[in-house]
Amino acid sequence: MIINLATKIVRRFFAGNKQKFVFVKSEEIEMPALNKIDMYIHIPFCKSMCPYCPYNRIAYNKEMVAPYLEAILNEIDLYYQKFGKIEISSVYIGGGTPTNLIDELNIILNSLREKFFISGDICIETSPADFNEDIIKKLKNMGIDLISIGIQSFDDKYLNILGRKYDSKKAEEVVKLALSANFKSVNIDLMFVLPDQNSRNVLSDLSKASKLGVDQITTYPLFTFPYTSVGQYLKLNKIKMPNIIKRRKMYREIHDYCIENDYKQVSVWSFIKESTPRYSSVTRDTYIGIGAGACSSLPGIFYFNTFSVTDYINSALNKKLPAAITMDITSQLAKYYWLYWRFYDTKISKKKFEEIFAPKELKIKLLFSILKAMGLYKETKDEFVLTERGAFYIHLLQNYFVLNYINKVWTIAKREAWPKKIEI
Ligand code: SF4
Repeated sequence: MIINLATKIVRRFFAGNKQKFVFVKSEEIEMPALNKIDMYIHIPFCKSMCPYCPYNRIAYNKEMVAPYLEAILNEIDLYYQKFGKIEISSVYIGGGTPTNLIDELNIILNSLREKFFISGDICIETSPADFNEDIIKKLKNMGIDLISIGIQSFDDKYLNILGRKYDSKKAEEVVKLALSANFKSVNIDLMFVLPDQNSRNVLSDLSKASKLGVDQITTYPLFTFPYTSVGQYLKLNKIKMPNIIKRRKMYREIHDYCIENDYKQVSVWSFIKESTPRYSSVTRDTYIGIGAGACSSLPGIFYFNTFSVTDYINSALNKKLPAAITMDITSQLAKYYWLYWRFYDTKISKKKFEEIFAPKELKIKLLFSILKAMGLYKETKDEFVLTERGAFYIHLLQNYFVLNYINKVWTIAKREAWPKKIEI
């Protein structure tokens, strides 16, 4: 309650009045000129529906695959018509479970290569339940560079609670398989703050990951969004989530374990081995999102595609950009978003910071004074670097920000294909 209120106050202090998403006719979106951008592709199909899942996903339906592919290719083409053959500095394929459309992905990537110039890495996420040697071979052949596997836990008890359709043995096999395929990096996601979980359980998962030799470990707390059935399930069964004191202790132990085992921190949630490229889905500044519910962040504008898979398909097949709701991003707001994501990275380049913020910006001066007094960051010659404590509080803010923000926007966007207005 107090943290929710604090999050709201901080957001209002920096962002000003309520932020508003409003219905948008795609033809009214004013596209800025671009010559380079990142790209996100959303594949919403899952073969098992995890009860805690907050993402825009639907049960795999063979009949919908061909029209969805067609819609994706049309949307790519719509952007090509607008921007021409621009540079795509990275491609991130998420979901859902993108590997459920493994053969279609090859067609999508070929279309991107034909229409744009891909200069950076191609990343994909997947789930252990839908992963095997054949899929790895295909991912390698289509030029995937980095892969992330949603392991969540190596403990059968938690896999059961989470409703994951594989056991710890399968999870381990999948990681070994992925590591043997020589991707530039293999990330695994592990959850903490699970019901009745203690530090010993968390450290046991980390130890397994590090012994297997994964390149990157991303640890994140279980989000109990009210609209997911796990939110209901936990309430109905009165299962106890670890409290804030336990969460603080777990976070410190995760941090210390990773640092002691030669992983360095690259975001509040992620740790990588030295000299491994970083896998990240969320920290890009500008990107185009393709697919149902995908969002796009372009200079001055941020918008979501319709979350309804059927409406998305109909719109794209009619050669209409499936954008549903939009929010104007003022230059001030864009600067604060930039700062937020650099805090999330745990490091801020002083040179870049000085280019973006005027030396006398009072809100920023005040913010940095408070953070310094609380011991949340330290300075090196070139950077502001979050301390472990600072990273924990950003993790907490991220957790509650995500809960408040995503819960509100996504609940409405999942209910209504073309919402009139969403205020946050
Ligand atoms: S596999 Fe991933 S996207 Fe699909 S339902 Fe489970 S958590 Fe959600």
